[in-house]
Amino acid sequence: MSRDMMASFELYQPDTVEGAVELLGRFGADGWALAGGNDSFDWFKDRIKRPKYVVDLSGIAALKGIRETVDGGVEIGALTTLTEVERSPLIQERYQVLADAARRVASPQIRNAGTIGGNVSQDARCWYYRYGVNCYRAGGNTCYADTPEGQNREHCLWGSDRCVAVSPSDTAPAFVALDAKMVIVGPKGQREVPAEEFFIGPNVDITRMTVLEDGEVLTAIRVPAEWSGARFYFEKVADRNTWDFALVNVAAAMKVSGAAGSERIDAIRIAAGAVQCVPRRLTVVEEVVTGQAKNAETASLAGQSAVRGATPLNFNHFKIPLLQNLVTRAVRDA
Ligand SMILES: Cc1cc2nc3c(=O)[nH]c(=O)nc-3n(C[C@H](O)[C@H](O)[C@H](O)COP(=O)(O)OP(=O)(O)OC[C@H]3O[C@@H](n4cnc5c(N)ncnc54)[C@H](O)[C@@H]3O)c2cc1C
Ligand code: SF4
Repeated sequence: MSRDMMASFELYQPDTVEGAVELLGRFGADGWALAGGNDSFDWFKDRIKRPKYVVDLSGIAALKGIRETVDGGVEIGALTTLTEVERSPLIQERYQVLADAARRVASPQIRNAGTIGGNVSQDARCWYYRYGVNCYRAGGNTCYADTPEGQNREHCLWGSDRCVAVSPSDTAPAFVALDAKMVIVGPKGQREVPAEEFFIGPNVDITRMTVLEDGEVLTAIRVPAEWSGARFYFEKVADRNTWDFALVNVAAAMKVSGAAGSERIDAIRIAAGAVQCVPRRLTVVEEVVTGQAKNAETASLAGQSAVRGATPLNFNHFKIPLLQNLVTRAVRDA
């Protein structure tokens, strides 16, 4: 397969959301929404995805920027860069977990061009799929990663259904922990979807990672006031400290009461990435630690409960103790 030059496409550069939705609706499966291009151009250059029409969203001013909402939360335009999210004083003051997650994405160059909307909408990073093989996710009838000798070190511990790829986004678990809402505009109007429901597994639709349908644009992400200024924790472990996807990441938001040394956990939301096809909300951990003393024993119980039911593949057993340790630290150190 020739991989030296992009296949040609028609480029459209609307300056309104309505214009983009009209174009994407008209083109359907032949169209492609382009944001910062970090994910898109990989596909195009490898000639694996060959859309006929590309709709560049980068000229739509309404999709950019970070604003306070009337309820004391924050709305982030989908075309806001990861660098802007990482450096925003508003995000740092209210939702440090998101600033930390954005800071751990890829490299400064990718964060300067990559958008928050693109980061949560990016496709699976399975080696085989990216190489262009005809696996289940690509419409074929086999999974190359889920075989005795398949390269599945990066793949999932839960939620497989033919495909064992994971959610690759670092910011996605932070949005789940913050109970964010994704604002989507399409031919049928606007809808708001909780972050937890925005991501979908192969059991729902093996060809997509999110609920976004042809013709729909993610316009903004709303982070509610509820967790503003809470205690937070984000940690990502990757093979390299830059330019690398998570082997496991964990994001937590926690409310505590009581004096230092005898604190109690009043409420918590915690999610892990790169362990399932969607960011995995760790509801068992939330149940185990809510109302408990915030100490080493509770943290240890949290870690143990996080990995219950994990089903490793041949080469990713290491993710189980890794997740256990990250969750233990999140509950102990948030
Ligand atoms: C070398 C490398 C290392 C990386 N490392 C990491 C990492 O460590 N952690 C991490 O989380 N990510 C990582 N990434 C992924 C990268 O962060 C994302 O690919 C990037 O953030 C995508 O943003 P973009 O604006 O460039 O998206 P694009 O490439 O423009 O779009 C990505 C996808 O989302 C869709 N899309 C984008 N915006 C919208 C929208 N508003 N509405 C509807 N659909 C939309 C596009 O159609 C496309 O399918 C890495 C990427 C590379 C190339
Ligand atoms: S894990 Fe999913 S994306 Fe990777 S080869 Fe299997 S079906 Fe394809």
